[in-house]
This record gives sequence, structure tokens and C-alpha cells, in this order.
Amino acid sequence: MKRNQNTRKLAEKWRPDTQLIRSGTYRSELSETSEAIFLNSGFCYDSAEVAESRFNGEAPGYVYSRYVNPNLKMLEDRLAIIEDAEACCVMGSGMAAVFASMMSHLKTGDHVIAHRVLFGSCFYIITEILPRFGIEISLIDGTKEDEWQKAFRPNTACVFVETPANPTLELIDIEYVAGLCKQNDALLIVDNIFASPLRQRPFEMGADIVVYSTTKHMDGQGRTLGGAVLGSKEFIEETLLPFHRHTGPALSPFNAWIILKSLETFSLRMDRHCENARYLAEKLEANPAIERVFYPGLPSHPQYAIAQKQMKRGETPCGGAMLAFEVKGGKDAAFTFMNALEIIDISNNLGDAKSLITHPASTTHSNIQPEEQLAIGITPGVLRLSVGLEDKEDLAEDIARALKF
Ligand SMILES: *Cc1c(COP(=O)(O)O)cnc(C)c1O
Repeated sequence: MKRNQNTRKLAEKWRPDTQLIRSGTYRSELSETSEAIFLNSGFCYDSAEVAESRFNGEAPGYVYSRYVNPNLKMLEDRLAIIEDAEACCVMGSGMAAVFASMMSHLKTGDHVIAHRVLFGSCFYIITEILPRFGIEISLIDGTKEDEWQKAFRPNTACVFVETPANPTLELIDIEYVAGLCKQNDALLIVDNIFASPLRQRPFEMGADIVVYSTTKHMDGQGRTLGGAVLGSKEFIEETLLPFHRHTGPALSPFNAWIILKSLETFSLRMDRHCENARYLAEKLEANPAIERVFYPGLPSHPQYAIAQKQMKRGETPCGGAMLAFEVKGGKDAAFTFMNALEIIDISNNLGDAKSLITHPASTTHSNIQPEEQLAIGITPGVLRLSVGLEDKEDLAEDIARALKF
């Protein structure tokens, strides 16, 4: 019987596309083909002694779905295999994962460094919440090596970077920053949401912790919220899990099941997302209504060399599924263009089968002051495009028509 033979040891021998479909699967005694849904909050014990031994950690087994349940476990095991990480903990949203990756180990007096281009909520945690607990922060231009050199202090406990960063797709040289973190005994947390594990491998470049919003390309169809933190067994079990279990950012088992099933088509979908993104980036760059395009796969990207080095599909460099561009004419021109689109939807979400366009200055990044927005390249004409799975010719025509070229 092939039931429950999908151990980590077996799955490690498979190639990624097989791992995405089969790793972590738990089959019940009914031998169902597709993973079952376990919509239960609690578990029963055969005896009071069994309950005692589960609680004191002597016996394996489930205790409560705020900790973990079979669907969460399947998703954690599958994500850990894909990322080649020792351990994973899934959570109710990407922000819960980002927050726990920092708050589970930071303490008063610590110092945190972050690249200044950040998703609005990451920016809020770092600039508003951490300082309230006496944690010092430095926001730097992480594209400059000398800023990194100067930023570390004796109390630097962790470094947080998004690469590519939301929304301008600036890149951070993970290998370079990881080297400095090692020298300074600081944990490097990489938000790998824009690239996905199929296009960028932060652990292989020296990252200590990788965080995801599974809401994005992993779900891929805009249905669920979810997040994940991956790292060493020691970090996840001894630092993150106690924080997670007692503060309760648990993922719903139903959402875990949806994300798990979505991973089966993740690789196929990412190929199409990236193919479409490159095609549109090239079309946009050639359009006279466009001031500039931000896409790591184009030689015009200021950090093209870093993109070629660290964003890859296997051994082949890849620009990813997200792009941004600046329309000539500022906010008015950007709004006129967005309103004229017939296929591409206006939404702050990303990583959907449907192409979605965002005006970061007035939505996702509106909590950042206008001067600061300009300093980090979020000008009034900048738009972020999450390229979907539609026919790329239809998308290109939609854009060209709305730009009137
Ligand atoms: C969406 C996003 C998040 C937050 O994820 P949620 O699932 O929405 O909580 C964090 N970082 C980046 C870069 C994102 O794009």
C-alpha cells in the first residue's frame, strides 16, 4: 500500500515538479486520492495518559489546530521540501508570517536593518511597531553596498529585505548581505514573495529565514490568505513555534487545503506568469507613453546583473511574474490609463490568474509620506502590474489601447 509513504527522505529524491504534487501528502486509512480536508479544531485521546504524553511532548500526535492540524502539516512539509528548508510554520496571512519572523526573537535594545523599499504593512511593522518596544531601526538604501557596510551595530539582531521589492522591483544582493549578516551575527530574513521559491533560492545564498504570503502566486487564484516562515529546525521549533502557538496567528485548515492543492499547478502557472510578464515588459518598454519599465528580466533594470545571478528558473535567469512601469503624465495619466483598461482589473492584490494593476502611491504604499515615496521611486505615475495567465496578446492589446498607442 502506497499510503503514507511520502516521507521527507523519499520526496527529497524527486525533482521539484514531482515534489509540488506529491510531497507531504498524508493519506488516511480510506486511501483517498486527493488530500482530504480536516475541518476540526480539536483532537480526542484514547486515554488520559495519552493526553498527558501529547502535552508533555513524549508522544507524537495532534493536540489542537491553533498549533497544527493534518492540512497545515501537509502544507508545511510540502513547502519545506520545495524550499529545501529544515522546517516550516504556516500562518493565517503573509503579514502574520512577517511579524512572527521578527517578533518571535527580537527584544528591547535590539537593532534591525531593512531595505527602505517595503510593502506598506512591512514598513508599518518596522517603523511604527518595533520602535514602540525599544527596538532601534535603520532603513537604508539596500542597493548600495556602502550603506550596508555602515549600517551594522553591535546590537544588530536581524536584517529584513524584500527582493524584488514591492512595488519598484529593486533588488538586494542576497549573497552579499548574507555575508555581512554572518560576520555581524545577525539573522537575515528574506521576504521572497515576489520571486517565489521557483525563481529564487534565498537559503542557497545564505539567508537564515524565508517568509511568504501564500496569498499570492502559491494560491494563484485570489481565494485565500496565508503565510509561511521557513528556517532551521532550531529556529522554527525553539523560537518561532512557542510564539506562534501562544499568540494564535493560525492558518485555517480549509485555506491550507486550497493552497496545498494549488501547489500542484504552481510550476506550470509560474512558467506562464513569467512568460507573459516578460512579453508585456518588452512591449511597455517600446511604448512612447511609458517613461520607464521596472522588470528584473530586462537589461534596462539598474540591477540586471544581480537579477541574472540570483533570479533563476533552474539554471536559467528569469525576471519573474511582477513588473512596474511609470506612465508619462503623472497621476492623472496613470488613473486615465487604469480606468480605460477592459481586461486588467484594478486591485491591490497580486499573484492571481487574473492580471491586476495597482497605483501604489494612492493605495498599497499610501501610508508612506509623499516625500519618502518619491525618494524610493514611487512617483505618481508608477503602476505595478501583477501579470496573470490570460493570453498575452489580449493583455498587450488591452494595455496598448488604454495607453492610446
Ligand atoms: C502581500 C505581501 C505581503 C503580505 O501578505 P498577506 O498575505 O497579504 O498578509 C508581504 N510582503 C509582500 C512583499 C507582499 O507582496
